Formats: sequence, C-alpha cells, structure tokens
Amino acid sequence: MLTDIEIAQQASIRPISEVAAVIGVPEKYQEQYGKNKAKIDYNLLREVDTTPGKLVLVTAINPTPAGEGKTTTTVGLADAMNRIGKKTVVALREPSLGPVFGIKGGAAGGGYAQVVPMEDINLHFTGDFHAIGAANNLLAALLDAHIHNGNELGIDVRKITWKRAVDMNDRQLRHIVCGLGGKADGVPREDGFDITVASEIMAVFCLASSITDLKERLGRIVVGYTFDDAPVTAHDLHAEGALAALLKDALKPNLVQTLEGTPAFIHGGPFANIAHGCNSIMATRMALALGDYAITEAGFGADLGAEKFLDIKCRLTGIRPDAVVVVATVRALKSHGGTAPDALNTEDLVALEAGLPNLLQHVENITQVYGLPCVVAINAFPTDTPAELALIENKCRELGVNVALSEVWARGGAGGEELACEVVRLCEQPNDFTFAYELEGGIADKIEAIARRVYHADGVDIAPKAQKEIARLESLGFSSMPVCMAKTQYSFSDNASLKGAPRGFRITIREVRVSAGAGFIVALTGSIMTMPGLGKSPAAFKIDVDETGRITGLF
Ligand code: ADP
Ligand code: MG
Repeated sequence: MLTDIEIAQQASIRPISEVAAVIGVPEKYQEQYGKNKAKIDYNLLREVDTTPGKLVLVTAINPTPAGEGKTTTTVGLADAMNRIGKKTVVALREPSLGPVFGIKGGAAGGGYAQVVPMEDINLHFTGDFHAIGAANNLLAALLDAHIHNGNELGIDVRKITWKRAVDMNDRQLRHIVCGLGGKADGVPREDGFDITVASEIMAVFCLASSITDLKERLGRIVVGYTFDDAPVTAHDLHAEGALAALLKDALKPNLVQTLEGTPAFIHGGPFANIAHGCNSIMATRMALALGDYAITEAGFGADLGAEKFLDIKCRLTGIRPDAVVVVATVRALKSHGGTAPDALNTEDLVALEAGLPNLLQHVENITQVYGLPCVVAINAFPTDTPAELALIENKCRELGVNVALSEVWARGGAGGEELACEVVRLCEQPNDFTFAYELEGGIADKIEAIARRVYHADGVDIAPKAQKEIARLESLGFSSMPVCMAKTQYSFSDNASLKGAPRGFRITIREVRVSAGAGFIVALTGSIMTMPGLGKSPAAFKIDVDETGRITGLF
C-alpha cells in the first residue's frame, strides 16, 4: 500500500493558474507562488460581484487514537461534488510545523483524498505562519521596549499576558527569563513562548474580514495590565499599523488543488482549544464566492469544533452553514465502546454498538440544538468488516439519521458520490439555524449553556480564581463576547477518559482569559498546553530529502 506522500508525489498537478481559471478568478487577483500555489488577492471579494454558494461544514465524533479522517472526508467530498457536476471549492486550515515534526498525522488529507503539493503545504507553504509569528514578536518587542524606555503606561511586568511565539514544538521555551545582561539590555522578567498557532494573532488573522477589520482587532489585543489593573492594548503601544503591514500578504488566501484538481483554499490555522480552530474567514468567503458549494472543516469533535465554528465564527462573521457532515469511523466508535487500541483491527459488533451513542449525540446536537440538516459520513477503513459497516448504517437508519458510506480515502471522489448527493439534497432543505446561546447575560451563563446543551453536563463549577477573573473581565466590559471553550477533545465532558455519551457529570472551569482582539472569552477546564514538546522518537527522525530535492517520510 502506498503512503500518503507517495500517492501525492505520483499525482499530476495542474498549473495553479488553470485551477484558478476553472473558478473564474481574474488574472489580476492571482499571485503565483511557484507553479502550484497562488495567493488570491482579497480585493476580489470587494471588487467582483459574486453570489455566495452553499456552505457545508465537516465535523466529527470525539476523536480517539483510532483516527477519524475529517480532512480526508472534506477533500474527498469536494472531489465527489465536482464529479457529480457541482462546482465546489474546499477551505481548510494550514498545518503547523510543530505537529509535522512531532507526532505522525497528516494535515493535508490522506490516501486518494489529499491536497497537493502536500510537502509544501506541510513545510513553510507560502510563509503565512512566519508572518504571523513575526507580527506576534513585533508586538512583544514593542511591549518590552516601552517598558525599557520609561514605561509611561505603567505596565506591571508581573501582569504581562503577551508571550513570544515560534512555530515549533519546543518545550525548552515554555518558561524563560529574558532581558538579562544589564541596564542597557532591557528589563529582566519572566516570559515564555507559545507555538505560533496558539498566538492570538492567529485567531485575529482568521476572523479578520478585511485589512481595516484586521487592524482594529489587532489594536484591541490585551497584552497585560498596569499597576492599577487597567488593561494595556496593542493600540496603546501604537502597534496595529505595523502589525497589519506585516500581515497584508499573508491575509490573502492560498489556493492549491486536490489530487483530482478541485480548487482548495488552505489558509490560517488557529488552535481548536484556546482558539476557534478553523481556517480564515477570508478563505471561507472566497470559497463561497467562487464555488456553488464550499466545504470546510472544524477541528476536533463537534462538541468543540462545530460548536465554535457555529457559535463563534458564524456569529462573528455572519456566514451560515447549509448542511453539516459528521464523520465517524468503525474504529473510533469501537474505541468509544471500549475496544482496546491494539484490538481495533478485529471485528467487534458489541463494542461498535456500545460506541454509537457518541455519534448519535453529536448528530442530535447539530439537528436539535443548532437546527441544521446533517448527514453521517462513515469513513471506511481497510480494516472495517462488512458486518460492522452494515451495523452502523442500519442503526442510523432505524433512528432516522441520514448516513452515507464514504470510500474517498481508497477511491478518491468516486468513493464519495453517495455522500455528495446527500449533501446536495440537504443543502436544498430550509433550516432554522440558531446558536447554542445568546450573547446577552454573563460569562458564566454562556459557559453553562454550552455545558448543558452541547456537552449534556449537569452543570458547571467555576473555581474561585476563575470567578474572580470573570468578575474582573465583566467589569472591564467584556461580558458580551462569545465563549471559546478549552476542554479535552476526547470526551463530551472535561475528563478525557469518559468516552461515549456520558451523563451525570459536571464541568469545572479553572481559568478564564480574554482574547479581546479575536473577540472571545476563553474558558479553560484544565491546563492547556500552548507550547508542545517533541517526543523521544518524533516524526522529524523519518523526514528526509534526497539530492534531487524529493522529500520522503512526511506521513
Ligand atoms: P482529521 O482531519 O480528522 O484529523 P485526517 O483526515 O487528517 O483526520 O486523517 C488522519 C490520518 O488518518 C491521515 O494520515 C489519513 O491518511 C488517515 N486516514 C483517514 N481516513 C482513512 C481511511 N479511511 N483509511 C485509512 N486511513 C485513513
Ligand atoms: Mg483535519
């Protein structure tokens, strides 16, 4: 069996100008990055009159180590849509270098449902993450220079919340002491690095609808507090103009293609825990403007990814989905039903049935809480048995849940036509999309609504430190923002080991922060790692390049 990179390298890639021409991008908006990549100028959205297409969100059950395949399904579904004659464009996140060298796991789809050139997409791509890291670090430099040069704003160095950033899993930088040396070398203080995808600049970048909006959001970023506990913003440091200047080209969505030539925008990639976890709104808007259908993915399971896509991204940007695809696999459902990781290749109908409630609860949330049409895509793995696949399909049908088998990993778009037809049908249905909570009310009310309605928790316990922070943020005027939950992706609850559809649990909020530029409150149920580290045997060990420049070992 060929690996993902071997399949990708065998593909005949069309010149990107041809791909752009298929969706009618006038040449003046195309900025070529080599032969197979282009940035598309955002001025197209202002200057060219287009009718937005239908928006399809791909999400999944709670992830397990068995793997789900959201990106694979997103890519394959788009290829299948084009095969059945529907002009469809993909919008996905850009991968971070950290996980590429850290743990094995594709970020450009898999099998015969991939975006290419996958080596470029996974390594540097068009430099967007560099620009975001540079903007992050310019803000850090301006902040420390302000303190060094007299600290007119009265910034308390013990209350600085802004960190430096680098796009690498480097635990050595998690906690540092900087400004050492002497009087001329800055003011010594404790500091730390986040991985670039965890920077608030990334979240801001992905929610910005224009350069002006980007600048305003950048200006609102809170970098720390004064001795009197007043927030200090990037605007107070006169930073937003220069930050936006660093980001002006990065903000143009990157166009690439799938193995079957379907246009794909890959742009921006915020964390799915402390941030909202989906590609830029620029890319989604462009996919909607240029395609009759836009297919996009949200990170993690639907309790985190789809919840934030719907309650944060849709709310803050005004887009509305027309249909939702919930990806499930036999392996992952068996894992939810109690199968041990080393037994996933063996047929187990009992565990499979025991894992189904996880899937059904996600489906019910999408249809009942959010009022959206939904189809389950069973992402077929080579190890699935016919009896297992039949069991999920039959159980779903019994309960009135739409379901389609997806074989896009093995067969490309041809393996996704049944799913594509169902998605087209669902997009024609009227829907009464509503958010899981409204913005009025306090921060705690919104957390409670998400916990009860989406997680099916009995309630929320807020630790004293978080209660104090909520009171402070509300007094500073941040109460009407949506809430971005940082919780384990493995369970509906905040306990990673509670699989399936648990009941009788409560959610504990330990910490609350504001991402004022992005425009949401982050509620953390535990400590979330914003700077990962490399393991003993990282993926980097297997990655190589030969004399001709051909890369190997990248997934
Ligand atoms: P997600 O987006 O949910 O994280 P991906 O689509 O990136 O998942 O897939 C994760 C990994 O699983 C990839 O390496 C991909 O090749 C593999 N994978 C996905 N679907 C299948 C499948 N049906 N059969 C075998 N491997 C698959
Ligand atoms: Mg993915």
